[in-house]
Amino acid sequence: MKKKLIVQKFGGSSLSSIKKIKRAAQKIKKEIISGNNVVVVVSALGKTTDYLQSLINKTDVNADLKEIDTILSSGEQVSSALMALFLNKVGINSRSFLGWQIPIITNKSYGRARILDINATFLKQIIKDQVTPIIAGFQGISEELRITTIGRGGSDTTAVAIAAKLNADRCEIFTDVDGVFTTDPRWVKKAKKINHLTYDEMLEMASVGAQVLEPRSVSLAKQNEVSLIVRSSFKNIKGTSISKTRKIIEKRNVSGIVFSKNDSKITLLGVPDKPGVAAKIFGSLASQDINVDMIVQNISADGKFSDLTFTVLENDFFKAQKFINKIKKEIGIRNILPVSKVAKISIVGIGMRSNAGIAKEMFRALAKEKVNIDLISTSEIKISVLISRKHILKAVNALHKAFKL
Ligand code: ADP
Ligand code: ASP
Ligand code: MG
Repeated sequence: MKKKLIVQKFGGSSLSSIKKIKRAAQKIKKEIISGNNVVVVVSALGKTTDYLQSLINKTDVNADLKEIDTILSSGEQVSSALMALFLNKVGINSRSFLGWQIPIITNKSYGRARILDINATFLKQIIKDQVTPIIAGFQGISEELRITTIGRGGSDTTAVAIAAKLNADRCEIFTDVDGVFTTDPRWVKKAKKINHLTYDEMLEMASVGAQVLEPRSVSLAKQNEVSLIVRSSFKNIKGTSISKTRKIIEKRNVSGIVFSKNDSKITLLGVPDKPGVAAKIFGSLASQDINVDMIVQNISADGKFSDLTFTVLENDFFKAQKFINKIKKEIGIRNILPVSKVAKISIVGIGMRSNAGIAKEMFRALAKEKVNIDLISTSEIKISVLISRKHILKAVNALHKAFKL
């Protein structure tokens, strides 16, 4: 039988102690002993990257993104070498690789670089030489030979990119939960594991805040039809498989409920209603690297002014306000109403495409709990609402019940 090629990625939560690293090494060994080739991708141990970021935050030097990336990427240097040591100890011939050693080439957007290419010939030779490569996730090298990082949670993307490039049989994402759940199992006890999801469903879930997979990794898996599996690094159970389609037997309207608790809202009152104003406002926010999520605009009765509400991440809240204040006079905005501590809840499922009553059911379930809806945004397979952050758990539980998850 032909050997399969499997990419196995271990997240920080699965590598937060020596005991856990050893357990991960045993999982890798088991797959290799069963007769398959494995390429391993690791994140930094536990919350190492948070710690490195906190060091950077404490410094008062001018932020040089290139040096920051060199610092942030260092966590994976430790975890990849540690994993190689443990594997060698249990008789698996392995070696650590940093992004530049392969190389994994990225563009020059330090801090959120995109992977442009991976040297597959080199990796294939290593595999042929019977060496199991342990690749540091989350990092690469730019054409000006500087180390880059590809955005927080980026090892998922490293793993999928490698699986795509090597045409691997599957890409397994090992994490601290049993798979993808109907909602975050850390917050909602009744959350259930989902067996199958389509790329589109997972992409929507990841994009609206289900931390379990980084959104870019899912779109890359979709583009390249990488067979993606999210599973537990602690238990020996099946996990969630993510593919192009899912079986009809699993017919359901809503697959998951996702919430994010780091949103804030800014309302601009009395914005002159003329062409180019929205482009000016959102263009200037984008130029400051501030991502705007939901946007709603209401035109006044006389059609001369509008009220414009949008959401940004809490981290960008003050920066966004400062910036809007700067252009307030020039544009002629009457007033600015900033509100932090809002939250976004989304329901996601391909079954929503053909079912018109879903939105009504969602709004009714929230109304029953006296949860006020601030903003609404929809896509073909998702409805998101903005609510007050204090209502989040009540709302998620109500929706979980209403959609019988
Ligand atoms: P890793 O360290 O393996 O990369 P992450 O912390 O990035 O792990 O992602 C796993 C976490 O994602 C889980 O501990 C869980 O709390 C969270 N999560 C959020 N939404 C979901 C969901 N719908 N299903 C599973 N996990 C979720
Ligand atoms: N260590 C990086 C982070 O914490 C990458 C990852 O975990 O995927 O963001
Ligand atoms: Mg992660």
